[in-house]
Amino acid sequence: MELGSVLHALIPSWSSVGIYMIYLTYVAFASFILPAKVVPGMIMQDGSRLHYRCNGLLTLVSLIGLLGIGSKMDLISPTLIADRGLEMLSTSFIFSFLVASVLYIVGCRSRSQASSKKPHFTGNFILDWYLGVQLNPHFLGINLKFFFLRVGMMAWIIINLSNLAKSVQIGTFSLSMILNQLFCLIHVMDFLYHEEQLTCFWDIMVERLGFMLIGGYLVWAAFITTIPGWWLLYNKVDLSTPAAIAICIIYLVGVIGYRGSNSQKYQFKMNPKALIWGKPPRVIGGKLLASGYWGLARHYNYLGDYLLSLSFSLTCGFSSPVPYIYPICLIVFFVSREKRDEARCAEKYKEIWAEYCKVVPWRIVPYLY
Ligand code: NDP
Repeated sequence: MELGSVLHALIPSWSSVGIYMIYLTYVAFASFILPAKVVPGMIMQDGSRLHYRCNGLLTLVSLIGLLGIGSKMDLISPTLIADRGLEMLSTSFIFSFLVASVLYIVGCRSRSQASSKKPHFTGNFILDWYLGVQLNPHFLGINLKFFFLRVGMMAWIIINLSNLAKSVQIGTFSLSMILNQLFCLIHVMDFLYHEEQLTCFWDIMVERLGFMLIGGYLVWAAFITTIPGWWLLYNKVDLSTPAAIAICIIYLVGVIGYRGSNSQKYQFKMNPKALIWGKPPRVIGGKLLASGYWGLARHYNYLGDYLLSLSFSLTCGFSSPVPYIYPICLIVFFVSREKRDEARCAEKYKEIWAEYCKVVPWRIVPYLY
């Protein structure tokens, strides 16, 4: 594709804006009306405690069902998103930009609020717009942070399924495509099934909602993650059976480490006496878990997630670096995020954190980093 036509395809049409708005409205509406498990969150940095309606999986499954019915009845084309990927990407980017700007302006207006919800300003308006000024802004009763995270993760699957339909239509359907689709689908469904565990994620607990997070959810989680799927749509890859088995093993190791580590931390936060790998947990200073995955490395969960991202890209073979954009960016992202989290934990837990670092010297990859 030439640069001129790429730029042209990036200009959003009114129909792509309409599709985007219908999608957002559906997710918001379904989150309210579908049955949900209501879970209390952790006590936040600002002392507040929120409750979360966890029904992301049901919201996704019902959306896929509705889209399936709609395409069977010829009301909607299954390749709707695949046909306008770049437009949808720019729509998402512009929307993230606008929401971050509105949140910044709303934050400025409520600057004088005398409560724990008082916005936080650094004084540098670009930084405040980018990082956000409010921890948990709400709109019409919707917790925007939780909502955008869900919207981004669900969009990943909707985009992938549309690419799947397109690949069948244009004849690029392959084993690579099947593996990529399955890996992403299982990962996102597992993510939404364990939605309550998000309540102790750093984003939810600590980060304010600005362009960084909104773009992270609506552009990164929804589109950058789908690059291997887009690539497979236009490039047929013939995976050998041993290669497919090796990729499945990497994926499984990733899933087990990712889910296992995040679940262990969540269980520990809920019940510090809960057994870890069948044994009483090793706890440092009564607050930090030092057994299970949290005894192997201080962020084994990043390693699990990284292996997942790698397995998605490996389904595309090695003929181009393009499908590897996501795992390459993730290395930079996780290394810097781990450093920021480390600094925060060192300040929060003081000597307990120093002791934990002695007991568990590895940051992300045991015996390596
Ligand atoms: P963590 O889930 O590792 O959360 C870090 C927090 O957990 C710390 O700030 C601390 O918070 C607490 N903590 C750290 N160590 C311990 C311990 N030993 N015992 C008890 N509590 C501990 O990080 P993230 O929220 O960054 O990541 C969560 C998941 O999300 C990861 O699996 C990550 O891979 C994934 N993720 C994926 C992204 C992607 O683009 N693919 C982007 C971002 C995240 P506290 O003060 O509450 O104790």
